[in-house]
Amino acid sequence: MDRNPPAEFYHRYTGWKFGTCFKCERTSQVTTIGELTVGSVAVQLAACLACTWKLERLHHDARATSLHTGTAAAFAVAYASARRELAA
Ligand SMILES: [Zn+2]
Repeated sequence: MDRNPPAEFYHRYTGWKFGTCFKCERTSQVTTIGELTVGSVAVQLAACLACTWKLERLHHDARATSLHTGTAAAFAVAYASARRELAA
């Protein structure tokens, strides 16, 4: 997969709005890519175009090596959850 997303990649996700990316923490156009539930609290995960593309690539690679068999959204949640545990 390429380093930069193809032009049509933007349209694979909907609901782009101004917000903060959970991954790079930059404020830009983000889209909701999943939901992380901790106890009874659900948090929407939003990522920028570059990070959404990176997550798709990581997901693609993980699938290729059978590390992950779920959807890209489930992968993003697992990724965010792991990141949260590392930060704790
Ligand atoms: Zn980002």
